[in-house]
Amino acid sequence: MAGYLSESDFVMVEEGFSTRDLLKELTLGASQATTDEVAAFFVADLGAIVRKHFCFLKCLPRVRPFYAVKCNSSPGVLKVLAQLGLGFSCANKAEMELVQHIGIPASKIICANPCKQIAQIKYAAKHGIQLLSFDNEMELAKVVKSHPSAKMVLCIATDDSHSLSCLSLKFGVSLKSCRHLLENAKKHHVEVVGVSFHIGSGCPDPQAYAQSIADARLVFEMGTELGHKMHVLDLGGGFPGTEGAKIASVINSALDLYFPEGCGVDIFAELGRYYVTSAFTVAVSIIAKKEVLLDQPGREEENGSTSKTIVYHLDEGVYGIFNSVLFDNICPTPILQKKPSTEQPLYSSSLWGPAVDGCDCVAEGLWLPQLHVGDWLVFDNMGAYTVGMGSPFWGTQACHITYAMSRVAWEALRRQLMAAEQEDDVEGVCKPLSCGWEITDTLCVGPVFTPASIM
Ligand code: PLP
Repeated sequence: MAGYLSESDFVMVEEGFSTRDLLKELTLGASQATTDEVAAFFVADLGAIVRKHFCFLKCLPRVRPFYAVKCNSSPGVLKVLAQLGLGFSCANKAEMELVQHIGIPASKIICANPCKQIAQIKYAAKHGIQLLSFDNEMELAKVVKSHPSAKMVLCIATDDSHSLSCLSLKFGVSLKSCRHLLENAKKHHVEVVGVSFHIGSGCPDPQAYAQSIADARLVFEMGTELGHKMHVLDLGGGFPGTEGAKIASVINSALDLYFPEGCGVDIFAELGRYYVTSAFTVAVSIIAKKEVLLDQPGREEENGSTSKTIVYHLDEGVYGIFNSVLFDNICPTPILQKKPSTEQPLYSSSLWGPAVDGCDCVAEGLWLPQLHVGDWLVFDNMGAYTVGMGSPFWGTQACHITYAMSRVAWEALRRQLMAAEQEDDVEGVCKPLSCGWEITDTLCVGPVFTPASIM
């Protein structure tokens, strides 16, 4: 079995012992530590990532998953995904270096940033990374000079106006301009092998995929007419991490219509949040607390029945792991470790990060029991665009991660890889293996936010 991940990389969790139990143990240990310095930390369930992968293969059997490294480049995540045989989508030189460092072959890497620094293109050329995306003439000129043998994927714009995070203002060429770019590439002997798009993150309408797949078909025809050998379709990212949207059936139907089975096109997706969001849970400690009377100047009464609000300061904030508050408009909801009794009063409360500025607000309008300095708050679904976000400038550092995996997930992973090896699937990639264990998760269900709950 290819050795990206070994048992020493994670804590093996036995049947009946959940990663939540592990987190409880770790918070207890941290609270009892003799040092006054406590820091937020993650527990990552690598088994959840394995499950997501099997689910993806079942739901979209014609699509080969690549992982968007920028979403969470922590070693455990990269290793488990490498072990599962994924390809890697990198946005810059540092990410290409990172995945090559763990042993990913160049043939499994796509540099999916349509506007790259020349140094990045040169790095790709030197290290054998052939697949590069582009969406403009300048990029072609850079490639002609620095990586003439690259295989280019043309990134087209999508209608991402309904997505939470849009990319098409910045990346992607309009259909009108595609022919010109394809002609230009032909003129300069640059090989264009396919089309990519990214519908943005948090897209509520799966039809955006169907429209983009139809657009890609048109561009394939243009390219083929001009003599390019088009054989790569890259569906980009934007697949939801937890929330429901029935996207798989929409994508499968569009693929069957525009890129039917046997058409000789290699279909990729570059998934980020889909793989990691639900796998990571973070524990954050309360470092300071104060009660603010609601008749204080600048404060309005929020509720007739209360005269105060409690302001809690955490060791992490919106400039670190809670950046989704700023970028995705998400309101993180804490899970309390100690179950309050039904008689315990609830108070209007807000959570703030460590930066000395008024924007570092993690959550407001919460109703919580009286909490104390040193208490831990736990947040689920924290795997995407969170890890490695620490900044000494804002008073935070990258948080420690404890990786865990259940024995049953580890065995399922090993069986999958042995089956792939027996079938001579050298890349160990994409044969879905039914083990009855993975089917509890689907690409189509799950809540957007976890309601406030008790561990
Ligand atoms: N591919 C590209 C080109 C991206 O820019 C991104 C994220 O911005 C992704 C994939 C991953 O997106 P997501 O995490 O929403 O799946």
